[in-house]
Amino acid sequence: MGIRENILELKSEIEKYSPNPGVVTLLPTTKYVDAHGVLEVVKAGCRVVGENRVQALEEKRNILETLETGDIKWHFIGNLQKNKVKYIAPYIEMIHSVNKISLAEEIDKRAKQNNRRIKVLLEVNISKEESKEGYSIERLYEELPNLLKFENIEICGLMTMAPFTEEEKVVRKVFSDLKTLKDELNKTHFNGSLIELSMGMTNDYKIALSEGATILRVGSKIFK
Ligand SMILES: *Cc1c(COP(=O)(O)O)cnc(C)c1O
Repeated sequence: MGIRENILELKSEIEKYSPNPGVVTLLPTTKYVDAHGVLEVVKAGCRVVGENRVQALEEKRNILETLETGDIKWHFIGNLQKNKVKYIAPYIEMIHSVNKISLAEEIDKRAKQNNRRIKVLLEVNISKEESKEGYSIERLYEELPNLLKFENIEICGLMTMAPFTEEEKVVRKVFSDLKTLKDELNKTHFNGSLIELSMGMTNDYKIALSEGATILRVGSKIFK
């Protein structure tokens, strides 16, 4: 199937599996394709796309700027090195992977230099796998008072990756725990302003949807 068909199928699955489909953003993860692949998803109606490497993002964005695409919003979803923040700070719409205070500080500083606020998600390692990035829940609570001091970042939700397993119960628990954490933090620190749950990829987006995902980061299912 082609990119357009895959996107249409995903959109109908959002309607089917999400308790609140109106708030769900399908974020095609365009790391598998070049700028022309990105153009195809834009033509299929997705104006928000995700990349996980700064250099690839910059290259594609430069090419797309020369084409008449209209506005495209870029989300950064991968592990972000501090020394690369400056490149994307002028335009990035959202950064999904804030997992340490020093990174938050750098994003805040570069956002300020660019006279803007950057939306971020806090990455949480719910499954506690050693190979995964992200805050433990305990560490997140410790660091929150400092994270909340930055004026040029807007913390608008949480992100996680589920373990790679066939066991649906395990995956579902990771997503429902992230949702529970969001609800709890909304009471203790955010007064309801945490709205996004970035969870669900090609292997587990249906489960993520039914557990309340608001941003689906899907790549292979669209491009492969
Ligand atoms: C590649 C990637 C995805 C999408 O993964 P697929 O399994 O191809 O859908 C989601 N999130 C991050 C951080 C990624 O790097």
